[in-house]
Parts: sequence; structure tokens; C-alpha cells
Amino acid sequence: MSTLATSEAPLDVLAIAAHRDDVEQTCGGTLLKMAQRGRRTGILDLTQGEMGTRGTAEEREREAADAAKILRVSWRQALDIPDGRVENNFENRLKVAGVIREQRPRVVILPYWEGRHPDHYTASKLGYEACFLAGLAKLEVSVARAPSAANSVEPHASLEAGRRQDAGATNLRPHRPFKIIYATLYYDVRPTFVVDITQLFEARFQALMAYKSQFSDQEAGKDLFPAQAEIRARIEAMARFYGLLGGVTYAEPFLQKEVGLVEDLTLIPVKSI
Ligand SMILES: [Zn+2]
Repeated sequence: MSTLATSEAPLDVLAIAAHRDDVEQTCGGTLLKMAQRGRRTGILDLTQGEMGTRGTAEEREREAADAAKILRVSWRQALDIPDGRVENNFENRLKVAGVIREQRPRVVILPYWEGRHPDHYTASKLGYEACFLAGLAKLEVSVARAPSAANSVEPHASLEAGRRQDAGATNLRPHRPFKIIYATLYYDVRPTFVVDITQLFEARFQALMAYKSQFSDQEAGKDLFPAQAEIRARIEAMARFYGLLGGVTYAEPFLQKEVGLVEDLTLIPVKSI
């Protein structure tokens, strides 16, 4: 097994979320769009999904790998933070900071910082503070890994993530992402921008449906989970709504805390009137 090679390309975009399937629901189309444009994308799931009403953590792991292939992500991994108990503590911040230093993303996508599910809004704060910590020069951060050796997913040809498990990588250089944006789909807040996923809507839906243990029609949790046709209708309605805001058919919503910077007024997209 190789050690962590410094020549491995950093990620252009890393999406961090509490649960396997969150990214597929909130920003999967955007990740696929980035991959199609030649960007290197990745997904960090904070938990392994052991508390889900349906399916086991192992099933979800396989399903997450299938979804990652559809979204063409270069790297995906799940941490071992307990499902349903995502806490913004120093230990967890260090785990996420280790991934930030290892994968060196230019852009990090976090969940929006308010929401119904405590894991979602906690993941937002945890992710932000981990990005900050990852840049502190004097902080030593090592890479924490979930026990399962099969936890790494390499939907593309390379085996880099699996190798990195054995790297025992310490002394990772400080790194802070240039940009942090928030995927707002789970919360009713006006986005500051949307990404056009009109061409990618079908693939994104298929990535979500890869979680067969969660979304195929079945008895377990029938009163909690809507039927698949209903799921599609809801997802399409949301994508259309945000598409409408951007003047396209389907879109995914995001929020950035910073203001937009404009060079040429004639190139600002989205019609006003
Ligand atoms: Zn979730």
C-alpha cells in the first residue's frame, strides 16, 4: 500500500452532509454537472446510517457507492460519527478537518445551518468550524477512518481513497477551502443562487433511487416514507420551483454568505422583468 502521495490531485468540490443520501437530495445534480465539466468532486458523509428505519448501514454503504458512480464523484467516504447524534464537538471537528487537509477542496458544500433534523443543522456548524480548524498551522490533525475497510468508495478507476485508509496520514499540511457554500434545499430559505440542473435531473433522481433500501416501495416504515411516484413528484416540484427562480427548468438552490462580485453588468444572468 502506498503512502499518501502529495501528487494526488486535490478535490475541486467536496460536499459534506450528515447522512448518506443527503447530498443526492440537495446538490447531486450540481456535483454531476461539475464532474461533467472536468472538476474533481467528492462526498463526505458524516454518519453511516445505522439508525435508519429502513435498511442496514452495510446496505446503505453499497447504495452510496452506486449513487456515487451515477454522480461521477471521484471520492466518497463515510465517517464513524453516530447516526442521529451528530455533535459539534472538538473530536468530530478534528475528524472532518483531517479530511479537509487530506482532500484539499477548493469549494466545500455544507448543509444550510437551520433545519428540522438536528443532524443536518449540526453538520453545517461542524463542517464550517472544521474548515476553519483545518487551516490552523499549529494544529496537528490526523485522519480518522471508520472501521469498515470497504468504507471507501472509488467509483472512478483510481484506488486512492482505499490507499489513503492505510496511509495513517499525520502531519497533513494546513488547508482551508477558498469557498464555502450552503445547500438550502432542506430548508425554506431564499437561495442567493441556483445551479441549472435541467440536463441532469434524471441522473440525479436515479442517484437517489440507488438507495433502494430507503426508497423502493415496501412495508417497513410505510407510514413514514412516501411511495416512489410521490417522491418523484415532490423532487420534481422542488427542482422546478428553484428552476423558475433562475429562469431554467430544473435547478438546485444554494446560499453564500459573501456578496457577489461582478465584472461586466451585461453578463449578469437571470432576467429581472
Ligand atoms: Zn439527512
